[in-house]
Amino acid sequence: AVDLALIESRIRDVPDFPHEGILFKDITPLLAHREAFAAAVDGMSAPFRAEGVDHVVGLEARGFIFGAPIAMALGAGFVPARKAGKLPAKTIDRSYDLEYGTATVEIHADAIAPGARVLIVDDVLATGGTGRAAVELVRKAGGTVVGFSVLMELAALRGREMLPDVEPHILLSV
Ligand code: 5GP
Repeated sequence: AVDLALIESRIRDVPDFPHEGILFKDITPLLAHREAFAAAVDGMSAPFRAEGVDHVVGLEARGFIFGAPIAMALGAGFVPARKAGKLPAKTIDRSYDLEYGTATVEIHADAIAPGARVLIVDDVLATGGTGRAAVELVRKAGGTVVGFSVLMELAALRGREMLPDVEPHILLSV
């Protein structure tokens, strides 16, 4: 079984980051701890071992850190989903609303073959806007979303309700 208490013990609350009134969940102590990081990667990938995942799509930036070892664990390739303007070749994109303004996520247009089986990975599910955009982006590329795996949800923000026809896999709910 995955040691959830160990994982939880290595997540640090940082008040007033990045803005006054926000309690930020800092995962860097978890990343620095070999057993805790391994437990998180194991717990986030285990349910998808028999799913025939072709690609893990990691969401910039902390989704890259978990997504790459999860891809290795599943025998899958890794595809970065980046903020607008960062990827060098032809991209497809999806925009979504933030509290103030909008954000855009992009993947390379040729990264996901039609019908490829895709697991989306991020560290934290908050309002769900990022996850929703990622699911829509993978579908726009022709991929099949087999899951959305996150380390932690901030349950009060009800991000699950934003996800279109995807049941997220969540290790910790805070
Ligand atoms: P959402 O779009 O669900 O509101 O926000 C999720 C995105 O914001 C994720 O990519 C996640 O990395 C980041 N995020 C929001 N709040 C936190 C937090 O408290 N801690 C961390 N590590 N990331 C957060």
